[in-house]
Amino acid sequence: MKPKHRDFRLDIIVLLGSITAVTIASFGVYRGWQGQWSQAGFDLAVVLAVSAPVVYAWRTGDSLRAGNVLAVLNSVATFGACLLLGHTALTWTYLVLLTNFFIAHRWVAVACNVLLIVGMQLIPGFFHDVVHAASVFVSAGMITAFSLIFAARTQDDRAHLERLAAVDALTGVPNRRSMERALADAVGRFQRGERRFGLVVLDLDHFKDVNDQYGHAAGDAAIADLASILRFEMRRNDQVFRFGGEEFVTLLELDSTEDLEAAAERLRKAVRGSLRGPGGRITISLGAALLREQEKTWHDWFSRADAALYRAKSAGRDSYVIADDLF
Ligand code: GH3
Ligand code: MG
Ligand code: MG
Repeated sequence: MKPKHRDFRLDIIVLLGSITAVTIASFGVYRGWQGQWSQAGFDLAVVLAVSAPVVYAWRTGDSLRAGNVLAVLNSVATFGACLLLGHTALTWTYLVLLTNFFIAHRWVAVACNVLLIVGMQLIPGFFHDVVHAASVFVSAGMITAFSLIFAARTQDDRAHLERLAAVDALTGVPNRRSMERALADAVGRFQRGERRFGLVVLDLDHFKDVNDQYGHAAGDAAIADLASILRFEMRRNDQVFRFGGEEFVTLLELDSTEDLEAAAERLRKAVRGSLRGPGGRITISLGAALLREQEKTWHDWFSRADAALYRAKSAGRDSYVIADDLF
């Protein structure tokens, strides 16, 4: 199995939550030592409250929910510290205003920051004077605005990278990576009794000749045209992927071998009828397999379709073979 995607938010939650808990616990011990019991009690409550979402995120991996809760708690605790300690707590508020964007959804972070910034303005005698109040208001507001822009930008970049990583550059159809995910997903849905699925592996016939006689660019154009034809032929819940080279895979929601046969024949005909290279008609061979109950991973299913494709090639090409239970 592939390693799980690294969760940056979870890392920050654990790091920030642990440091916050340890730091505040130390303050709490010091306050207790000084006999300041109310403040020590407040510190203890914050430590417990902050630890809960950290443990939850660590155990469940649900970092977004834990991050939202932690951002709210940090903001409330910081506001409480401002009430109790006065403006000596200001230093911490800047840290919280920034880290909220690392751990929470960006609009949750904005809401926490706005409430914290406005809340501080409402604490009687919190600031030295009006100028102090205004400068904290403006600087805290700017931290929030810059962090929001940065968070939005990072999220856009990430979405863009995820799109690039999932799609084939030449044809624009989802790539092998996406196929693996989709097939694994289909196996899961079938195992849960939701639906049946068929898989078609198809490969251009005598494609080396196209490249050799007319050049790589002509070959590329034919592959792109094939992708367009396949995409056009897909029904609403069906998907097409470029497996690699001039080989494509289609994942189809259907109920029987007859349906799978009909789909394979429809694809074969569509390509035969429409795909043309500089040297004329280009055809495909197809191998298809209906997902079986004993297939717990997509690899076995795929191997059967691939073996069927091999037989279609041997049988003279421009044809399909349905994998039967002998495989
Ligand atoms: P067969 O009917 O047995 O499939 O014969 P074939 O010539 O198509 O044989 P095979 O499938 O093994 O050939 C794959 C060829 O496809 C080799 C390579 O030159 C070409 N090819 C693979 N990927 C690309 C690509 O991205 N662009 C181009 N232009 N050619 C590619
Ligand atoms: Mg091939
Ligand atoms: Mg080929």
